Amino acid sequence: MEATVVGGGLAGCEAAWQLARRGVRVRLIEQKPAAISPAHQTPMLAELVCSNSLRSNALETGPGLLKAELRRLGSLIIACADLYRVPAGDALAVERFGFGREITARLAMHPLITIERRPVHDMPPGHVILATGPLTGTELARRIRAACGSAGLYFYDAIAPIVDADSIDMDKAFRASRWGKGGGDDYVNCPMNREEYAAFVAAVRAGRKVLPHSFEEPRYFEGCLPIEVMAERGDDTLAFGPMKPIGLDDPRTGRWPHAVVQLRPENRYRTSYNLVGFQTRLAIPEQKRIFQMIPGLEKAEFLRFGAIHRNSYVDGPRVLGPELELRTLPTVQLAGQITGVEGYIESCAMGLVSARFLAARLGGTTCPPPPVETAIGGLWSHVTRAREDGERYEPQNINFGLLPPIEGLAARRAGKSGRRKLHAERAQAALTPWLDQPADDTLLASTGLAIRASA
Ligand SMILES: Cc1cc2nc3c(=O)[nH]c(=O)nc-3n(C[C@H](O)[C@H](O)[C@H](O)COP(=O)(O)OP(=O)(O)OC[C@H]3O[C@@H](n4cnc5c(N)ncnc54)[C@H](O)[C@@H]3O)c2cc1C
Repeated sequence: MEATVVGGGLAGCEAAWQLARRGVRVRLIEQKPAAISPAHQTPMLAELVCSNSLRSNALETGPGLLKAELRRLGSLIIACADLYRVPAGDALAVERFGFGREITARLAMHPLITIERRPVHDMPPGHVILATGPLTGTELARRIRAACGSAGLYFYDAIAPIVDADSIDMDKAFRASRWGKGGGDDYVNCPMNREEYAAFVAAVRAGRKVLPHSFEEPRYFEGCLPIEVMAERGDDTLAFGPMKPIGLDDPRTGRWPHAVVQLRPENRYRTSYNLVGFQTRLAIPEQKRIFQMIPGLEKAEFLRFGAIHRNSYVDGPRVLGPELELRTLPTVQLAGQITGVEGYIESCAMGLVSARFLAARLGGTTCPPPPVETAIGGLWSHVTRAREDGERYEPQNINFGLLPPIEGLAARRAGKSGRRKLHAERAQAALTPWLDQPADDTLLASTGLAIRASA
């Protein structure tokens, strides 16, 4: 059994490891140091390009749950992160050079893995996992685009913040669709009077913005401008743009408000909502402070903050099959951030899933998808689930909004933190049948390379 993995980042390293521990001979091709993206700096594999934090370890958070699952699944990335942990409270932060060196060494020493250092410009033959990340080289990106169709691969990410539905104050916000269209109550609307709107525009203008990286020339589409750019264009630009109130009767006054922030359901369970048209380069603490000025969002809990950055990712639900394979080229699977997840651990998770599917294929069997009640299954579902008409596909960090809600009286009584605990318990139980026993762990144990999956 043989496979090629392109890209030695978090996803590619995890995929190569998971394939090899299932007896697959792996050729891992990494472009560094011959070619190096503007965000990468070292020849190490699994380089953390920015923060050294893999976020919370607490089981009652999306990132904590995902890491717990990855530990049980024998993830190389998480095992090495645990090995090189530095003190960071609840978060799993790592000593980045030790972490990268350990992963590079383990892969280099693995008897079934060969590492080639060169850029890949075309689709390699045979079974392939492409894990070339948010800054995929231009030539290869062109090939992926040709395989996906022209609208199947995006190069920029302009995302709006997402808030937890339970944290919206519905005594101030109201449900309505513009002109009562569609379901009539599809949107949650946060109304503003003239003074509130003026204060909000002033805060957006004055708020601290994140400067683009040197390789990110800001190219905005008129239909997708950051709110701060619109706020700079004039006092009323936002009120005539994403905050326009027309067709939205506030049931408390019977009139249209001066301006409105509309929130659209982010998932079919309506447990999270995105702020429509609020893509932004405001710094994260500023987003929290300024968006909590919006009536109804004073106590909003942000599941994701807005961002605009360079990011290569495919329109997963349109171009990927259930095993993360390109529909038009089924011997090529994707893994990592390019599938439409966002973040180190999410990318690692999509490397693990892609490899599980491929190892089963090569062995002449199939691997069922990860259960949707798990964090890893929630991510898989996000990148593969068919979207409803008009629903935009956007990259996602792990959060409980990607998992089916916990229903029932006990869940209602449990409150928010109790529900998170229930989410975590349900996920842990659902993952058990998806754990497997790879064939060659005994071989690895004799070399001292084995990663022991936690119970
Ligand atoms: C500037 C920046 C800052 C970020 N900060 C954070 C952060 O703080 N926290 C966080 O969780 N996430 C962050 N991210 C997102 C983060 O990069 C990803 O979540 C994660 O690294 C993606 O893993 P990956 O394996 O998919 O891609 P990567 O880790 O980028 O790995 C891709 C690998 O493929 C190689 N490669 C690319 N093209 C080719 C080719 N043609 N041939 C051969 N090899 C190739 C690259 O050299 C690289 O080693 C950031 C991203 C960027 C761009």
